[in-house]
Amino acid sequence: MAQNIDWSNLGFGYVQTDYRYVSNFKDGAWDEGVLTQDANIVLNECAGVLQYAQTVFEGLKAYRTQDGKIVCFRPDLNADRMVDSAKRLEMPAFPKEKFIEAVKKVVAANADFVPPYGSGATLYLRPYMFGSNPVIGVKPASEYQFRIFCTPVGPYFKGGVKPLTIKVSDFDRAAPNGTGHIKAGLNYAMSLHAIVTAHEEGFDENMYLDSKTRTKVEETGGANFLFVTKDGKVVTPKSSSILPSITRRSLIYVAKEYLGLEVEEREVYFDEVKDFAECGLCGTAAVISPVGKIVDHGKEICLPSGMSDMGPITKKLYETLTGIQMGRIEAPEGWIQVIE
Ligand SMILES: *Cc1c(COP(=O)(O)O)cnc(C)c1O
Repeated sequence: MAQNIDWSNLGFGYVQTDYRYVSNFKDGAWDEGVLTQDANIVLNECAGVLQYAQTVFEGLKAYRTQDGKIVCFRPDLNADRMVDSAKRLEMPAFPKEKFIEAVKKVVAANADFVPPYGSGATLYLRPYMFGSNPVIGVKPASEYQFRIFCTPVGPYFKGGVKPLTIKVSDFDRAAPNGTGHIKAGLNYAMSLHAIVTAHEEGFDENMYLDSKTRTKVEETGGANFLFVTKDGKVVTPKSSSILPSITRRSLIYVAKEYLGLEVEEREVYFDEVKDFAECGLCGTAAVISPVGKIVDHGKEICLPSGMSDMGPITKKLYETLTGIQMGRIEAPEGWIQVIE
């Protein structure tokens, strides 16, 4: 029951809510789609997703703004990205308008689970899609299921901001012409060994380099990098194997249009990292997590912003974007979808 949730002590875990959305693709078309109270899925043992990992997903948040509205942040970009992900895995696109409608329905049906303004907690939405009919010869499934469930998640910086320590990984995340740019479960399955290893060694995250030359910064397992130069320029790595983070794209807009900062989206060589003033990780979960230290085979790069707080520009970016999301700062046209 939503009434019993202690919002300030929630972590990032699955809490079952009342309703989820389900739509099935069969004979070349998506059905109407419905909300259901059934949180379980019954699948054939040979379903495409179970054999050949044909599945893609998204992640976004709903939350209450200062004036009490329930809103979502740029769900249209999640819809577009999921279409791109689906196409790369030979799955049918789930139409953008239906995606946005489904997001709104799920949030409205679970409105009790949207945490109060100021709690720092949010309602995390997980749209996903998978091949559902039996597939044993290697080929795309012909039937698919699209679902969205939601789960309330706690404040990301519980007990204050703690800059992260990151390891330069010896593993690769994405091949040059592979699937790094799409949000697919397969990219995460193969990152699990690398993250478990990094955690065992005392690191918070991995920094993956480009797998072809191992000289350029790509991203972590689930967040894009953002750097700040000593003269206050924002720099983000550009590569066709990085997942196009909606948070990163929004922060770049905020840097240019709200803060008047210069922004460079370009290849970033690992050799340059030692000269940056600030570093952060961008993604829906934290918006920006500051990075304090990057360790390359025992060689430490300590960011001048230190291990106790966000750097000044990272902090401005964080406060401006979260201000826009929470309704304290006027949002660019179309960024905030009001649900109720
Ligand atoms: C989801 C994801 C991100 C962050 O994207 P947002 O749209 O900002 O949440 C970054 N990298 C990877 C690999 C991801 O899967």
